[in-house]
Amino acid sequence: MKSRFAPSPTGYLHIGGARTALFAWLWARKNNGQFTLRIEDTDRERSTQASVDAILQGMEWLGLDYDEGPIYQTDRFDRYQEVIDDLLKKGRAYYCECSKERLEKLREDKMAAGEKAKYDGCCRDKNLSSGVIRFLNPDEGRVAFRDHVKGDIEIANSELDDLIIARSDGSPTYNLTVVVDDHDMAIDCVVRGDDHINNTPKQINLYTALNWDLPAFAHVPMILGSDGARLSKRHGAVNVMAYRDEGFLPKALLNYIIRLGWSHGDQEVFSLEEMIDLFDLDNINKAPASFNQEKLIWLNQSYIKSIELSELIQHLQWHLESRSIDVSSGPKIEDVVESLRDRSKTLVEMADGCVMFYQDFAAFDEKQASKQFSSKSQPVIEALHSRLSALDVWNAKTVHGEIQGVCEQQNVGFGKVGQPFRLALSGDGKAGSIDVCAELVGKDRTLARLQMAIDYIKAF
Ligand SMILES: [Zn+2]
Repeated sequence: MKSRFAPSPTGYLHIGGARTALFAWLWARKNNGQFTLRIEDTDRERSTQASVDAILQGMEWLGLDYDEGPIYQTDRFDRYQEVIDDLLKKGRAYYCECSKERLEKLREDKMAAGEKAKYDGCCRDKNLSSGVIRFLNPDEGRVAFRDHVKGDIEIANSELDDLIIARSDGSPTYNLTVVVDDHDMAIDCVVRGDDHINNTPKQINLYTALNWDLPAFAHVPMILGSDGARLSKRHGAVNVMAYRDEGFLPKALLNYIIRLGWSHGDQEVFSLEEMIDLFDLDNINKAPASFNQEKLIWLNQSYIKSIELSELIQHLQWHLESRSIDVSSGPKIEDVVESLRDRSKTLVEMADGCVMFYQDFAAFDEKQASKQFSSKSQPVIEALHSRLSALDVWNAKTVHGEIQGVCEQQNVGFGKVGQPFRLALSGDGKAGSIDVCAELVGKDRTLARLQMAIDYIKAF
């Protein structure tokens, strides 16, 4: 059993493409089959290496591994030529020299007469030897197939065009290459976007003309933005890698996109194993799904809380590196991440939260410092500095005890000590539990930062 994902390298890996890839991948994994990655790069003007790289990077980041490929269509021109020659020889294809002007006029006339705009077959019997090559579509009968998502589909052959299978320069067209590839690669199930569904009956006729077995088909509905229009840049990121940059975990994104158009009861969170176990093409919704950024953030947060610590750190690494955070000079990253995971919605927030543990800062946030560091808080901070410097055992509990000691000694509430302490430690006031933070920042750095706060006050 084999499925495939066959993107055209004309941009990045789009979120809709990633979902199609996920569905095809799940189908293969569920059936203990194989998954093929095929790069449909026959459009040489629009295809780029940068785009190929972006697609491969996106697949890797998502963890959608493939057993075969990447296979490039541009490596297979000889094979396409062979099939085109075969169709010509069998009388199932023919050259057409109709001019653009004639085809345009034909289209206009048909439209004006209220008919379907299709080629009239005028070159079918001319025995030409140049021009484009068309497939001779049958005139009689009907094409019927059962789509896993859309159900039974049937269309009369009289409605179908004589499809162009080779351009006048001899290069094969999409509809020809996709049929040859899916046959040669022994694809059992073609999962793709439903923008391809109108081509499917014509492709089925090609299979039949070539005496090839048909694969199964599943045409997946598109993803819409929250306003009901097709998902595009104006709804937010559509590039899969932008989700990494924004701090999402690949598993959270996979969980999110599988739920766009597929469901299993009310269940929201699925492990990969559960996805493979429960996924069924027949349960994909027929209607388009709408993207909901808040749901994605909720899922991401729940994955940050629950996935293996080592996996979390592995994905955080990219964000730490992009902030030049060197975790070798400071507390154990495992401890820092544990202290942050319950209050981080994204890895961006988490990486921001890591900064205070590994990097010293040159100045405090001016607005907060003017509020928290004053002649009134000076004795509190000085008392804290002196009590903490006398501490022998440095941990959250002992630090907490000293904060409480300052509260009693100065006769103030916890907040009056905690707030300036938090600002002194973090520089920007953004920190979690203050005693845990102090433990992780370490004694020397904590004292240096408290001294910096005292100096700030004295400088006024
Ligand atoms: Zn013609």
